Amino acid sequence: MGNVLYLVVPCYNEEKVLHATAKRLGEKMRELAGTGKISNAGKIVFIDDGSRDGTWGIIEQLCRSEDRMFAGVKLSRNRGHQNALYAGLMTVKDEADMVISIDADLQDDIDAVDKMVDDYINGSDVVYGVRGDRKTDTFFKRATAQGFYRMLSALGCDVVFNHADYRLMSSRVLQALSEYGEQGLYLRGIIPMLGYKSSVVQYVRGVREAGESKYPLRRMLTLAFDGITALSLRPLRIVTLAGAFMLAVAAALLVYAIAAFCMGKPSLRLKILMFSIWAVGGIITLSLGIVGEYVGRTYMETKRRPRYGVEKCIGIRNGEDELGVRS
Ligand code: UDP
Ligand code: MG
Repeated sequence: MGNVLYLVVPCYNEEKVLHATAKRLGEKMRELAGTGKISNAGKIVFIDDGSRDGTWGIIEQLCRSEDRMFAGVKLSRNRGHQNALYAGLMTVKDEADMVISIDADLQDDIDAVDKMVDDYINGSDVVYGVRGDRKTDTFFKRATAQGFYRMLSALGCDVVFNHADYRLMSSRVLQALSEYGEQGLYLRGIIPMLGYKSSVVQYVRGVREAGESKYPLRRMLTLAFDGITALSLRPLRIVTLAGAFMLAVAAALLVYAIAAFCMGKPSLRLKILMFSIWAVGGIITLSLGIVGEYVGRTYMETKRRPRYGVEKCIGIRNGEDELGVRS
């Protein structure tokens, strides 16, 4: 095999952008093949994550086009961005030398692909696409995302600042990734854990050209919790430390109350008592919640359910249609 590049593009209800995306990605593949950096055998693989609009219809239409550059994987239902991406990566890992994952809305600058391929040729196994700035984000998204990266670093996790899921991975990195069997997938946390030589390519992120974001607050929170619980046990330790601290405060208050009683002074005021009850109750409930997040995820992991189901594949291997597989 030469330098075979596959692009993996997860799509959920993306009918509004798909034609434009396919055109631009196709041009980029031809341009790169023209320079000789990649082979002609590369493909663009769209993963339909259980869309309810015309997304799969468009993918099928693209796969039937003359140049055989497009391929499609249809998941049996919506499993979320991380699982869809993982399904795509696992489906193509034996076909390609390098794979780049990119969102269907092309908010991530497609021209960064050139530099990623250069870095791969120069020996990098992973090339992270990193956003130079976050001007196109809303204030809320920017503040929460950056706060989250800082929190992950503070919890001791190895994260690449301002990197999402725009990255190049070599086939041996995908092989290593395939051995990670966890349910709560947080790919941008797992990939740095795999090791291998990596580099960074900076780019400017644009705005979504059509359709709307598929990441409402609820999904962002789930991803955030998946990220924290997948990468760090430190929150559990913080809960333990908070418990020890509260016990120490309680012991000090007991000593103070006994001393005040012996000296004939009135005991602590009712207001302080009420505040303490609420504060202690709050901390205990919050701690239980944190422990619960881990216990719940442990429970889900023990089931060892498949992370995705493939209903149909078109054009992945020799242009043939294949039956579904589960992994
Ligand atoms: N996506 C997906 N499944 C989902 C939600 C999103 O495959 O359940 C895809 C979506 O089609 C897009 C990518 O994940 O290609 C990122 O989603 P989006 O652009 O809506 O996220 P944002 O850029 O707003 O964070
Ligand atoms: Mg987007």
